[in-house]
Parts: sequence; C-alpha cells; structure tokens
Amino acid sequence: MKRAFVIGHPINHSRSPMIHGYWLKRYGIEGSYEAIDVAPQDVAPFLDRIRAGEFAGGNVTVPDKETAYALCDERDDLAEDIGAVNTLVAKGDQVVGFNTDYLGFLGNLDERAPGWDEPLGAASAIVLGAGGAARAVLVALKSRGVKEIRLLNRTLDKAETLALDLEGPIACGALDEFGRHAAEAALVVNASTVGMKGTRFERLDLSKLPKTAIVTDLVYTPLVTPLLADAQKLGLKTVDGLGMLLHQAVPGFEAWFGRKPEVTPELRAMVEASL
Ligand code: NAP
Repeated sequence: MKRAFVIGHPINHSRSPMIHGYWLKRYGIEGSYEAIDVAPQDVAPFLDRIRAGEFAGGNVTVPDKETAYALCDERDDLAEDIGAVNTLVAKGDQVVGFNTDYLGFLGNLDERAPGWDEPLGAASAIVLGAGGAARAVLVALKSRGVKEIRLLNRTLDKAETLALDLEGPIACGALDEFGRHAAEAALVVNASTVGMKGTRFERLDLSKLPKTAIVTDLVYTPLVTPLLADAQKLGLKTVDGLGMLLHQAVPGFEAWFGRKPEVTPELRAMVEASL
C-alpha cells in the first residue's frame, strides 16, 4: 500500500488529509495519506524515511517548506525559481521536490475566472505581500506574460529583495501606494496573511480599480475575507483562496498514486464546510 503524508508544525489545521482522503476513496485506491507533525529541525531524518521507501511522497507546509527545499536531492525548475517546495516525490532512494502552489494559483483562476489573464498583456497586476506565497504568485504571473506587476508590501526591503531575485517586470512599493496604481490594474492578488481571522488592510481604496478588475485572495479562512467582501460590495469579480488549495494538491496525488484527480464541486463543498 502506498503511503503519503503532509508534514508541518503544527499540522492539525491542515485540510490536505481530507482532500487526498476524498480522492483515495473516490478512485478506490488502496493508499493512505496522513498528517505528521515535523518541526524544521526534524525534516532531515524524516526525508531519510522517504529515501528508505516508507512513503511514495507527500506535502510540506509551514514552516518546513524552505528546509525541505534545501534538503531534497533534486528539485524541479519551478521549485528552484520559487525557492521552496510543497510537494515531495520519492524516486528510487532520492527525494525530488516540487512547488505546486504555482499551479494551484493558476488552476484556481483559470477555473473561477476564465480569461482572467487576457487583459494582463496591456494592464498591471497588483500583488500584496512578499513572503513565500507571493513568490509562487509572481512566478505564475510572469509565466502568463503580465506587462507589469506592482509588488506592494508592508516591509519595502523584502519586496525589493524578492523582485531582484525573481527578475521580470516587477516594480515595488509600500502598501499605501495602492491607490496610485489601482486604475491600471486588471488583477489584485492578496498573497499576505492579512485577512486571516477577519483582519483587514487599512486604507486600501478599491474604488479606484476598473470595474472589470478581478480581486483574488490566497487566504481562505475565512473564505470571504474582508478584502473580498469589500470588492464584492463594489461589484468587482472575486476569487477566493480555497480553489488554490484544492488545485495545488492535484499534481502530488497523481505522482504518488498514479491517477490525476478531479477538483469536484463535492470536494470543494466538503472542504468549505470544514472551514
Ligand atoms: P509569509 O511568508 O509569512 O508572508 C507573510 C506576508 O504577509 C508578508 O509579506 C508580510 O509582510 C505580510 N503581512 C503579515 N502581517 C501583515 C500586516 N499586519 N499588514 C500587512 N502585511 C502583513 O506567509 P506566506 O507563506 O507567504 O503565506 C501568505 C498567506 O497565503 C497565508 O495566509 C497562507 O495561508 C496563504 N496561502 C494560501 C495558499 C492556498 O492554497 N490558498 C497557499 C499558500 C499560502 P512583511 O514582509 O512586512 O512581514
């Protein structure tokens, strides 16, 4: 029986066992997917268990993504660009690292807002936040040929370091510059932790955005963050972060269990009900 896992610290909050458990059952696959609490200092011995054949692979979540990146034997190009892994796959006695947040972000927008990237060849995208998730978002946006990305972060230095590291059409600024750039934006992405537990950005004036702009949030607890609620009040199209969580799980499941799973409305409803 093939075994997979999600490691992180703490790990009880993870919805990944629910997602992969749903697919194992749906496709009648004899396999398991378990949540294992692994602190960063214990990632190295855990990877040895994968090398020894105990697991087909698994997911990595906060705060282990960078540690696992540094310790795996091989990484795909995207993971190299992003500098963190969220998916590990056993290959013989080696551990290969991937970053599927990128695919999750794109898969979610492609599903919920088809054609979202068409105006971006001539317009800009605003990304709020410059942490690990923002990296994946920036790489994803670059891959879709966005003309200009405005990377706004509370700590300007961090945005500048990230932009230098990733290269491309990324201009940095502070969060309070939002109003100055809003009129040219076709897409706003919140890749910061603001929104979790109902927190909100101060002084983010969405009213200057074009009426056709799309606002998406990576935060999915709550599902409708204050940012998305404000955008909806203005009649803007919004895309929540739950779909990203579901879509980022697809490539891992396929690699471990040999079947590409579907993100069904039933799965979404099940995970949504657990939030
Ligand atoms: P991270 O590396 O810790 O980065 C956090 C970011 O939020 C930083 O840019 C930080 O700014 C900013 N921030 C924190 N508190 C703030 C505040 N009070 N005001 C303004 N900015 C603030 O976190 P991450 O791994 O990138 O994750 C970011 C969010 O994305 C998390 O909520 C995570 O759950 C979510 N996420 C969702 C998915 C999904 O599948 N939907 C996938 C990945 C991540 P400073 O630089 O100034 O500290």
